[in-house]
Amino acid sequence: MSIAAVWFRNDLRCLDHQALSEACKQHEQVRGVYFLCPAQLDEHVTAPMRRHFLRRALDELAAQLAALGIPLDIVNAWHFREVPQALVGYCDKFNIDEVFAHREWLVDEIRRDDACAAALEGRFRLLDDSLTSPLQISKDDGDPYKVFTPFSRRCRDHLRQHFPQCLRRPKTKGEPIEPSTCPVFGEEVSSDDWAASESEVLAQLRRFCSKQAGKYKERRDLPSEAGTSELSPALALGLVSPQQCLARLYSECGDTIWDTKSGPGTWFNELLWRDFYRHIAYHYPRVVMGKAFQPHTDHIAWRYDQDDFDAWREGRTGFPIVDAAMRQLKERGWMHNRLRMITASFLCKDLHIDWRWGEKHFLAHLVDADFASNNGGWQWAASTGTDAAPYFRIFNPTTQGQRFDPEGKFIRQYVPELAGLSGKALHQPPALKNYPGPIVDHSQARQISLALFKDLAD
Ligand SMILES: Cc1cc2nc3c(=O)[nH]c(=O)nc-3n(C[C@H](O)[C@H](O)[C@H](O)COP(=O)(O)OP(=O)(O)OC[C@H]3O[C@@H](n4cnc5c(N)ncnc54)[C@H](O)[C@@H]3O)c2cc1C
Repeated sequence: MSIAAVWFRNDLRCLDHQALSEACKQHEQVRGVYFLCPAQLDEHVTAPMRRHFLRRALDELAAQLAALGIPLDIVNAWHFREVPQALVGYCDKFNIDEVFAHREWLVDEIRRDDACAAALEGRFRLLDDSLTSPLQISKDDGDPYKVFTPFSRRCRDHLRQHFPQCLRRPKTKGEPIEPSTCPVFGEEVSSDDWAASESEVLAQLRRFCSKQAGKYKERRDLPSEAGTSELSPALALGLVSPQQCLARLYSECGDTIWDTKSGPGTWFNELLWRDFYRHIAYHYPRVVMGKAFQPHTDHIAWRYDQDDFDAWREGRTGFPIVDAAMRQLKERGWMHNRLRMITASFLCKDLHIDWRWGEKHFLAHLVDADFASNNGGWQWAASTGTDAAPYFRIFNPTTQGQRFDPEGKFIRQYVPELAGLSGKALHQPPALKNYPGPIVDHSQARQISLALFKDLAD
């Protein structure tokens, strides 16, 4: 009897799962395996809420697989370095003929997979699970894209011709079995506010596509409204695939998805931003190793001021929208996209602190942490990345607050010290007994930023 193992990574689902489907098609018996690498999670700075979310998602996956007669083995491998040996041991123990997994695109993962392929000598099959694979999308001259807009145009052309066909749940492989449970593997913070089961996530996706996608363009920048999907934690762990997102969007909204000015078309574009940063991380691995995408910007004289950094991360900068956003991150393990842009810009362009400090802080708190998207977002905000706009586009945190939280509903929710203020005073409050005055003068800080970048050009 032939036996396959499906190695689950950031694809913790049963539906639309290439590796699981192939393994079930080609082998009589199938086991699932997940290599738990606590030291790697520490090295990659994993938020306690994300650890809890991961453990819940693994338990949900184990239950789904158990109903199909497929066991899920959680194997402790400590660090990526130990995985090849652990994988060989696992295959020997269960007489595994072939291992199936989805390709990952970041440098540590690629190195790990190369070592596993060598150790398994032809018994390791890596399949593509992306909306647009970095191996498929390139410019006419074969070079990778560096700018989002032409990249997204090419992706849309590609997807028009190769629209994702989502795979069904595989047929059962035997009688239902008792599901395994994942042990606690480090400090946790409850992630119970985030759906961790495939069925709940699919219901969330359906709701968003049928009821909210149409108004996405108008509402996506308003943090006080539920205008975005909040599917990022599920997408980060692969409880749902971007292919399923696109297919569902199409089935609810039809051809409007191809119109980039429509709500559904704008949401489609956001899914492509996710792919774009994966392509960048794959083709320019220096960004994953702490380097700037634009190498000359590695010479910027960033500040490393712990007091200012603490004020930023604790939400006491005296800029209400920044403080509300940083407190949202702490409370929910998630932050609205507009606010990620505002807070990242504030750290880099108002406090002139190294974007890498901010990047790490986000990783340490986000339930949806995704290395490529986080790095891309930070480098975009710091003007060291792929942004086509010039470095002198600097967000004014006060006017951003006035524009995107005009009535201060969001600010009041997270900064109760300001609950009694309204109008201009809410966005530019004086120093209060329990709330600080602004820790920096924005117009002076802006001039310093311009000088920092101009010095590079000279
Ligand atoms: C400084 C900074 C750090 C970020 N860090 C992360 C991160 O660690 N993980 C993460 O998933 N996203 C990150 N983003 C992107 C974006 O802020 C989040 O994906 C988004 O806020 C998630 O909310 P949502 O699911 O409601 O998004 P929606 O607006 O509903 O978008 C749907 C999906 O598209 C993807 N997406 C949306 N916007 C972007 C974007 N700008 N870049 C890449 N993918 C995007 C996400 O997977 C998201 O779930 C970051 C952005 C910035 C500016």
